[in-house]
Amino acid sequence: MFKKLQRNLAASRLLEEQLFEQVAQELSKGEMRVGLWTQALANSNGDEEKAKAIYIQYRVQSIKDEKEILEVVVKDKLENTRIPTKDSWYILCPKCKFEQWVGCSKCKKCGISFSA
Ligand SMILES: [Zn+2]
Repeated sequence: MFKKLQRNLAASRLLEEQLFEQVAQELSKGEMRVGLWTQALANSNGDEEKAKAIYIQYRVQSIKDEKEILEVVVKDKLENTRIPTKDSWYILCPKCKFEQWVGCSKCKKCGISFSA
């Protein structure tokens, strides 16, 4: 139990380090989130050095948020594709009535185009 907790802490420290590294790389390329930078400036009374430090904290948090939201979206997608209804995923060819995936642009059987 305690060991597991220690491992989790070590993992999150590593992740944190990677996030800070990512932010450092962004900054070295001149990439900056204007919204976060403005927020940081506002919270440092216009002191740019202070704002930089605050910005890095904000950006690390925003990367964490982005990752979390991405995970939710991916999970959502997986759950949705697991139960596709026949109606929404398949269409019948108007000519030969061959049933096929809705993403097809041409009939797999008779070859007529669906895009028209
Ligand atoms: Zn057809």
